[in-house]
Amino acid sequence: MTQVIGGFAALELHPNILAAVIATGYEEPSAIQTLSIPVILAGHDMIGQAQTGTGKTAAFALPILSRIDPAKRQPQALILAPTRELALQVASAFETYAKQMPGVSVIAVYGGAPMGPQLKAIRNGAQIIVATPGRLVDHLRRDEKVLSTVCHLVLDEADEMLKLGFMDDLEVIFKGLPAERQTVLFSATLPHSIRSIAEKHLRDPKHVKVETKTQTVTAIEQAHLLVHADQKVSAVLRLLEVEEFDALIAFVRTKQATLDLAAALEAKGYKAAALNGDIAQNQRERVIESLKDGRLDIVVATDVAARGLDVPRITHVMNVDMPYDPESYVHRIGRTGRAGRTGRALLLVTPRERRMLQVIERVTGQKVAEVRLPDAAAVLTARIKKLTNALAPLVGDAETTHGELLDRLTADIGCTPRALAAALLRKATNGQALTLAEVEREQPLVPNGGAPRGERSERPERSGERSERSERGEPRERRAPVPLADGRARCRTALGLRDGIAAKNLLGAILNEGGLVREAIGRIQVRESFSLVELPEDGLERLLTKLKDTRVAGKQLKLRRYRED
Ligand code: ADP
Ligand code: MG
Repeated sequence: MTQVIGGFAALELHPNILAAVIATGYEEPSAIQTLSIPVILAGHDMIGQAQTGTGKTAAFALPILSRIDPAKRQPQALILAPTRELALQVASAFETYAKQMPGVSVIAVYGGAPMGPQLKAIRNGAQIIVATPGRLVDHLRRDEKVLSTVCHLVLDEADEMLKLGFMDDLEVIFKGLPAERQTVLFSATLPHSIRSIAEKHLRDPKHVKVETKTQTVTAIEQAHLLVHADQKVSAVLRLLEVEEFDALIAFVRTKQATLDLAAALEAKGYKAAALNGDIAQNQRERVIESLKDGRLDIVVATDVAARGLDVPRITHVMNVDMPYDPESYVHRIGRTGRAGRTGRALLLVTPRERRMLQVIERVTGQKVAEVRLPDAAAVLTARIKKLTNALAPLVGDAETTHGELLDRLTADIGCTPRALAAALLRKATNGQALTLAEVEREQPLVPNGGAPRGERSERPERSGERSERSERGEPRERRAPVPLADGRARCRTALGLRDGIAAKNLLGAILNEGGLVREAIGRIQVRESFSLVELPEDGLERLLTKLKDTRVAGKQLKLRRYRED
């Protein structure tokens, strides 16, 4: 194995937990994880202090899961979180990390949902309870023994809990817990009120603190762009058309994503390669050398794999996936702007990640301006500029060397020099779209197949929000029907929101079983009781036959051609 996996492997987590972490795609523990995991595994009480987004959940979830006894079907760990959203997030993180631990179950306990099922899940042997304090106190009132077997307590975002007025509830909960237990407290800040809780309820706690230094990144021009998660690859391709980069490093979160994006870039003719923790050291060095000497222009990397990478040619850093903490953002963008040059850093932000953007802005003390996806006109201008730059140096003394040949050819063919030059251009540009109409028609420019120059393509985050809202079944604004792009057919399935379908499920099924590329599939609209998908007209019948037995969310897809009249 590579030294990278050693990062988590060195922490002595339960082997099945370690396997789940690796499957999640994490390559290396964050600072708070490296420091907290051994302390919690050793059974100490602990006070952990670190900023939002530094990976605190795994810092306590991994060691606690490693110490759970799956055979005992009773509550063993209690995690308190300030809000329902955070409780759900923490519960789902526990589920992810416990995927390879059969017999471990997690229950989220929060207000606004019926108490009965929550209590039942606890009695049925959930070992991990993630709760908001208020609702947990309600449960304690009904059954004062409910927490009597808990031996690990975590107060997550303790300062937030106190701000929300949960002090009294916390005291009630402490009384309902066995005195013999491990208590871990995480907080971004340690005001007096938290210290006094710690003094009263923690035993000889170890302090673990990760400082977030404000970092200056002045030589780097930063911008962000709102995109929907499934439009990231198209957005990257489009940005690359207009960004004038020398060498570029693109950051993603998982190994698989390094491979996928590098492949998509290569397919578009970029000299690109992936760099991740699975790549052997000598191969890694080859990639970096190639980036240095220009045999490669783009490297798609995970944070770990790009550590220490120093290539002065890098003019651009593209954060395709959000970094998992502000420090790694600063590290990432520090790959450019080296040796006193200026660099440019672009950050793709999905609608749900806007909070992380704010954290980054706070920590770096800088605004990261919003830019929009370049439209077709901008793409065309950039292409023509590149062509001009490529051709201009070729003109030189070409007329002296090849002028006579040109005269002869035009005479032989019986055409004008302009006609011949145009033919040569067509050959040299190899079918690339070089008129506005053609660029607008290009699929990757309009990831969801909407109107090419309409609001949708210019403000992808809006369309993202809209579809998120409509997926939740809330009223959506009325829109004129979007005209179908050339060569596309609209198909319908009777599966919709009420069947638990989301656009990504349909997309996944059609890509996997239909053998299409992403660009071949146009807009996907998911409604309450049906969904519409735009597919290529060419070969449609064959495709529909192929998809005949496809199931999505356990139900037959039964995709048919849809006629609006
Ligand atoms: P915090 O509680 O400190 O605000 P979270 O625990 O919510 O932070 O983690 C923030 C994000 O970072 C999550 O999306 C999580 O999946 C991711 N993450 C945590 N640890 C790692 C890691 N070691 N490698 C990659 N991503 C990580
Ligand atoms: Mg957290």
